[in-house]
Amino acid sequence: MSNTPALVDKFGRKVEYVRLSVTDRCDFRCVYCMAEEMTFLPRNQILSLEELYRVARVFVQLGVKKIRLTGGEPLVRRDILKLVEKLGQLPGLEQLVLTTNGSRLAQMAQPLKAAGVKRLNISLDSLDPDKFRELTRTGDLQQVLNGVAAAQQAGFKHTKLNAVILKGRNDDEILPLVDFARAQEVDLTFIEEMPLGQISEHGRQECFIPSHEIRDIIAGRHELIPSLENSGGPARYYHFRDSDSRIGFISPHSHNFCGDCNRVRVTVEGRLLLCLGNEHSADLRDVLRSSEDDAVLRQAIIAAMDLKPERHHFNLEDEPQIVRFMNMTGG
Ligand code: SAM
Ligand code: SF4
Repeated sequence: MSNTPALVDKFGRKVEYVRLSVTDRCDFRCVYCMAEEMTFLPRNQILSLEELYRVARVFVQLGVKKIRLTGGEPLVRRDILKLVEKLGQLPGLEQLVLTTNGSRLAQMAQPLKAAGVKRLNISLDSLDPDKFRELTRTGDLQQVLNGVAAAQQAGFKHTKLNAVILKGRNDDEILPLVDFARAQEVDLTFIEEMPLGQISEHGRQECFIPSHEIRDIIAGRHELIPSLENSGGPARYYHFRDSDSRIGFISPHSHNFCGDCNRVRVTVEGRLLLCLGNEHSADLRDVLRSSEDDAVLRQAIIAAMDLKPERHHFNLEDEPQIVRFMNMTGG
C-alpha cells in the first residue's frame, strides 16, 4: 500500500477520526437533544453489532486512528461490551473512546476499561438534582455522580465532562461545575447548543449563551490561561495556575472550526455523515448489506469523502436546517 492517506477530502483535510453511533435510543430525554416523545428506529433499520464492527474495521484499514462510540446513549445498546471488546483489539486503532451520559457507568466503567476504552467523555449539565432532572427529563444525578466516581476508580485518565449551558436554566451551574471538575481533576468542556432537530421546551435563541460569556463568568473567579496546544479538535482550551483540570469551549456559532475538521460520523442506520451541520451523506448500510466484500465498502467510503462540505452554517434565527436530532447524529 502507498503512504498516501486514503481518506482525504476535496479541501485536503485528512479524515482520521470516526464518531460511530451504536444506538439512537437513550434513557434520558435531554431538553436540547430530544423531544419528550420520541420514536426510535426499528431493529432491522439499525446496524447489527457485526455490521458496526465491519464499518469500524474498514475505516481503520483506511487510516482512521480514533473511534468514538456514541449515540443516543451507547451503554444502553444490548451487548455493547461485545463490540467494545472486539474494537479494543482491532490492530491499527490507536484510540477507542466513548461519550456517555454516565447513567450506567457505575456498573460498566470497569469492564469498559478492561475492554480497551482509553478515555471517557461524560455529559453533566447540572449538580443540582432537581435541575438535572428537569434538563434530562428522566435522569438521576446521583447515578451519574456514582458513574463519574466509578470511572475514576477504574483508572480512566483525562476524563472529560461535557456541559451544555442554557440561559435561565442552568447558567448558575457554570461555577459549581468548574469547582466539581477541579475537585475531581478532570477536564470540563462547555458546548454551545446547536440547532439540531425541532425542540419544544425552549427557544434556542433565547437560551443561547456564547462561549465567551461563560468564559467571562469563570474568569471572574479563576484566572484562565489560554492553552497553546492544539487539541486537533473543535475545542479551545484554558488552564488554571492551581489545578491540572482544563476548561474547553466548543463554539460552533462563535468560532468556526471547520478548517481543520478531521472527522466524520456514522449513524446507527449506517449513514455516513460528512459534516455535523450539513445533510451530505452516503448510505453505507446498503453497501454493507449488498456485498460481503470489504473492498466495495472501502471504495464507497473513499468516494464519499468528496461530499464533505467546506464548512457548516448554523443560524439560530432560522428554522433548523438540520432536521435530525443529535441522538440520530451521533454527538
Ligand atoms: N448520550 C451520550 C451523552 O449524552 O453524552 C452521548 C450522545 S450525546 C448526543 C453527545 C453530546 O451531544 C452530549 O454531550 C450532549 O450534551 C450533546 N448535545 C446533544 N444535543 C445537543 C445540541 N442540540 N447542541 C449541542 N450539544 C448537544
Ligand atoms: Fe440522551 Fe445524550 Fe441526547 Fe441526553 S444528550 S438525550 S443523554 S443522547
